[in-house]
Formats: sequence, structure tokens, C-alpha cells
Amino acid sequence: MSALVLDGKALAQKTEQELSARVAKLKESSGGQTPILATILVGDDPASATYVKMKGNACRRIGMDSLQVEMPASTTTEQLLAKIEELNSNPNVHGILLQHPVPSQINERACFDAIRLDKDVDGVTCLGFGRMAMDEKAYGCATPKGIMRLLEAYDIELAGKHAVVVGRSPILGKPMAAMLLNANATVTTCHSHTRDLADHVRRADILVGAVGRPEFIKADWVADGAVVVDAGYHSGGIGDIELAPLLDRVAAYTPVPGGVGPMTINTLIYQAVDSGERKIG
Ligand code: NAP
Repeated sequence: MSALVLDGKALAQKTEQELSARVAKLKESSGGQTPILATILVGDDPASATYVKMKGNACRRIGMDSLQVEMPASTTTEQLLAKIEELNSNPNVHGILLQHPVPSQINERACFDAIRLDKDVDGVTCLGFGRMAMDEKAYGCATPKGIMRLLEAYDIELAGKHAVVVGRSPILGKPMAAMLLNANATVTTCHSHTRDLADHVRRADILVGAVGRPEFIKADWVADGAVVVDAGYHSGGIGDIELAPLLDRVAAYTPVPGGVGPMTINTLIYQAVDSGERKIG
């Protein structure tokens, strides 16, 4: 069997063309106003700095602006909350991204939750999560929402399928499980206390690996014909799932790199454009 490649890079590029056209139209109809995504980077973690830079570059590629806020590693929760409040009240800011993780002295959850719902284009607030889980309007958490957009673009059927999500983090596994449930999949969420993980994985029609450990999910746990989504990315270009032996026996898979990763940033700017259109348009 030749598996379908769920090409996140190609879908992200195609979507960027559509987003560029939408931003250009918005500028034209509003006397030059541009959607603006504010990004907040706290501290000097090089990986986080790279992610923030990539997000700013993605904004510029589609004609949006980004307002890049950098704060020192010694920032307190109160200082970060004050900055978020300033961005919440700035009418020219249409979306706010707080780069995770923040330094350990900061109450990250309190800071995420301070982001105003209509500017939560990265989908990190408890309120946004709750609304999404209830199938009410809210921006989805960027990585799982990007996975849902990718599955939809490739017409992967979810209704009635058994989806197994390995991982339950607030930014990935939990919202992923809720989104799949809303799409009428039957969902099993696995985590570090799950017994007989391999048996759960074996029963997956749709498998999402979101563990954060290189090739932790073994190929021989995965059923023939499954749809395999790997959110992980580790040095050496491998993900959380042992993918190479699966390529000729699964129905579809996300490549690593080039699958889930590009869809995360793409979903952030997709939702930021939507927010800009609502406020400017
Ligand atoms: P995380 O916060 O570290 O969460 C990892 C999850 O895996 C936890 O829920 C944990 O369970 C579970 N886990 C750990 N050991 C396990 C085990 N032995 N058996 C079963 N489950 C186990 O990670 P994350 O932020 O969700 O990220 C997950 C992966 O996605 C990482 O590889 C990360 O790099 C990647 N990621 C990619 C993007 C992207 O844009 N492509 C974005 C975000 C994350 P407990 O809850 O019980 O501890």
C-alpha cells in the first residue's frame, strides 16, 4: 500500500497565498490598515527565540505586521500581566501570542488566561479551551487545530473512527482529544499513567503522537491502514512515532519535518487574519 502523505508544508504554502490575498483586500478596503499579531518572548531561550522569529516571518510573508515584545528572563508575573493588559487594550493589536514556555518564576497559566478571548489567536486560554470543547466559537489551540485543518484538507474521515491521542498537555493532547470528539471520533487519550499503551495504540484508526520523546511510539504497535499524525520533532528529523517502517502499511501519515510543524504557525496566522478581519473589516 502506498500511503497518502499529509503534506503540511504544501498546505501551509497554499493557505499563505489565500491569506496574502485576504490581507491585501483588507488593507485596500480600510485605507491601509494591517492586521497585527503581537508576539511576547520572555527570556533568552534560543529555541523559543527561533519560534517567535518564524512566527514574525510568517506574518510578513502574508503582508501582516507583527509587534515583537521581548522581556528579560527576570520578568515577574505582574510585569507580564501588565504587558498583556496593555496589548489587550491596544486597538491596533488583533492577536497575542505568548511564547511557551516562560521562565519558571512566572505563573504561565495566569498569563495565558489574561489574554482577551478575541485576541487569543493561539488558543491558549482556559476560556477558549472550554468554549472550543463545548463546540462554541473560539480560536482553536494552534497545533491541534492545525492537525484538524490538515486532516480536513485531505478528506480524512473522522466520524465513527477510533482516535487515540498519546499525550494530554494543555496545548496539544487535551485540545486535540476535544477537537476529535467534536468531529464525532471515538477518542482515547493516553498519558504517562496509561497501562498497556501498545494495546491502545493498536486499536487506533487515527493515531496522534504528542509525547515529546523521540520515536517513543513503536511501529509494531500501529495497525495496518491507520492514519498516523506525529506532532513531535526531534534532532535527526524524527518525531514521537517510529515512522520509517510504517510508510508502506499505513493509510496516511504526516512527514517529519513538513507535516504538523508548518500547520502550527499557519494556524496562528490564519486565526490572526480572521481576528483582523473582524476588527478592521
Ligand atoms: P508535554 O507537555 O511534555 O506533554 C507530553 C505528554 O506525553 C504528557 O501528557 C505526558 O503524560 C505524555 N507522556 C509522557 N511520557 C509518557 C509515556 N511513557 N506514556 C504515555 N504518555 C506519556 O509535550 P507537548 O508540549 O504536548 O508536546 C508533545 C510533542 O509535540 C513534543 O514532541 C513537542 O515537541 C511537539 N510539539 C510540536 C509542536 C509543533 O508545532 N509541531 C507544537 C507543540 C509541541 P502526563 O500528562 O501523564 O505527564
